[in-house]
Amino acid sequence: MDLLLPRRCAGCAAPGEHLCPRCRQALRTPPRRIHTRVDPHVPVWSLGPYDGTHRRVVLAMKEHRHLAVRGMLGPVLAAAVEFLQVRGEIDAAPAPVLVPAPTRARAARLRGGDPVADVCRASGLAVSEALRHRPGVADQVGLGVAKRRSNLAGALELRRIPPGRVLLVDDVATTGSTLAASSEALLAAGCRVVGAIVICHA
Ligand SMILES: [Zn+2]
Repeated sequence: MDLLLPRRCAGCAAPGEHLCPRCRQALRTPPRRIHTRVDPHVPVWSLGPYDGTHRRVVLAMKEHRHLAVRGMLGPVLAAAVEFLQVRGEIDAAPAPVLVPAPTRARAARLRGGDPVADVCRASGLAVSEALRHRPGVADQVGLGVAKRRSNLAGALELRRIPPGRVLLVDDVATTGSTLAASSEALLAAGCRVVGAIVICHA
């Protein structure tokens, strides 16, 4: 793709790199606890508000098949997990297994693979793509809180039981309904979910 398109920063569009030093610095903020309207049953941490660099980088990784940015967000996610371990917010050992919040299969195909799963894999931590949508679940975009919640109730299923303690990962937390449905599916199967981490929160 570099032959076809000049390389631009996903955060600020400056020419030269996939992610410029200034935007890398902006993504290096420590994760902090957030509270969503729908109770996700587990603590949720976010790397930043859905604004500025975070927003543009998430849009780039999601909508523009920006595989390079997904690869660069992997170490950002790993650093955030390490920060939470050092602070004692999640146990350092055994390390948690990352479980990406599921993307509908069709959306993932359009985006050139599931972006959140790609970021998880690029983190170097253990990943289990344990969750998937049952067929026929409508897109969450454009739905209100109650509709999002009912749309997802019972909509997720486990493909496998993730080994060990689980840290859920998603790109954006809006109402918290995807995280809630994800943690419910895991908790119902007896998994220990230590929390959820998102790249940004709206
Ligand atoms: Zn930049």
